[in-house]
Amino acid sequence: MKHTIAIVGAGISGLLTARVLAERGASVIVLEKSRGVGGRMATKRVGDAVVDQGAQFFTTKDPRFSSWVEAWGARGLAGRWPGSTHRWIGIPGMTAIGKHLATGLTIEREHKVTAARRHACGCWELDIEEHGILRAERLVLTAPVPQSLAILDAGGVILDETLKSRLQAIRYHPCLALLVVLDGASNVPVEGISPESGPLRWVGDNVKKGISPQVPAAVTLHASADFSARHYGLPETEVSALLLEAARPWLAGRNVVSSALHRWKFSEPRSEFGEPCVWLPELTLGFAGDAFGGPRIEGAALSGLAMGERVASHLLH
Ligand SMILES: Cc1cc2nc3c(=O)[nH]c(=O)nc-3n(C[C@H](O)[C@H](O)[C@H](O)COP(=O)(O)OP(=O)(O)OC[C@H]3O[C@@H](n4cnc5c(N)ncnc54)[C@H](O)[C@@H]3O)c2cc1C
Repeated sequence: MKHTIAIVGAGISGLLTARVLAERGASVIVLEKSRGVGGRMATKRVGDAVVDQGAQFFTTKDPRFSSWVEAWGARGLAGRWPGSTHRWIGIPGMTAIGKHLATGLTIEREHKVTAARRHACGCWELDIEEHGILRAERLVLTAPVPQSLAILDAGGVILDETLKSRLQAIRYHPCLALLVVLDGASNVPVEGISPESGPLRWVGDNVKKGISPQVPAAVTLHASADFSARHYGLPETEVSALLLEAARPWLAGRNVVSSALHRWKFSEPRSEFGEPCVWLPELTLGFAGDAFGGPRIEGAALSGLAMGERVASHLLH
């Protein structure tokens, strides 16, 4: 079956692109390599705990994003961080937002796109790992930019040299995330801690945040960009030992009951493209995501909304 638009990636930018287009009646399919949706807005179970392992909270400045957030708040899918007037969280975890946005859309999970070819008829042919080929008239890539470029390279797609070098210049910080469940209460303040130096850039307790009531403490530790780059390939036991040592002041001498390490290769863009999205009508190809709209959830969301509008206006012509 040929779809009008294929979107690679079910993070917030891909899901909002899909929603805008589906609301205009377009036939959209979203292809996501993971089992879940939401991308870097990810919540994980560690033992009995519920832990946000990627983004911790989001803020809103732009009314185009605030109106979505208020609607999520009204449905109980988003709420304020305890004691904060400006931080929003997903309830019961960041993934709630992705799951909600995915409702009613055609989404193929565990569908990793490995190559995109431009066919002679002007449409796109996508190779999907273990799932064969899918055809679409238009293609929107919302994975981190190096992953999107790899998909196009594998299909022999030639981009304008200036655009290609601008896209190739977008790099991301890695982030090592250690999630730990403790046998007693932590010393982490309700609002979390963002150390300015040292191995950690974030320490937050998901129990105090209100998303994991089943355990005494469930702490998210995010390593700094510098630490993550230097220790990215170390075995889990070594990374865990170093991060637990760095977090000692906030762990109140408690024992670790269970833990999990996640390696975010593309955590946040180090530079921005400078436009909310890219749409190439001659190739019927688009790029969206936080590298375009800004390096946080709001930026990724605004990029997805802008991409949806661009493709929708292309459908009219
Ligand atoms: C550790 C960490 C902490 C953060 N903290 C915050 C925070 O507190 N506040 C905030 O606002 N932002 C935070 N961010 C940033 C925020 O999460 C991102 O800016 C935003 O979620 C990006 O959304 P996106 O749609 O652009 O990309 P993503 O969420 O990365 O979505 C891209 C999707 O594409 C999929 N994909 C990739 N390649 C393929 C392929 N070949 N085939 C199919 N699917 C593919 C991926 O699996 C993913 O689901 C944090 C991020 C990290 C990692």
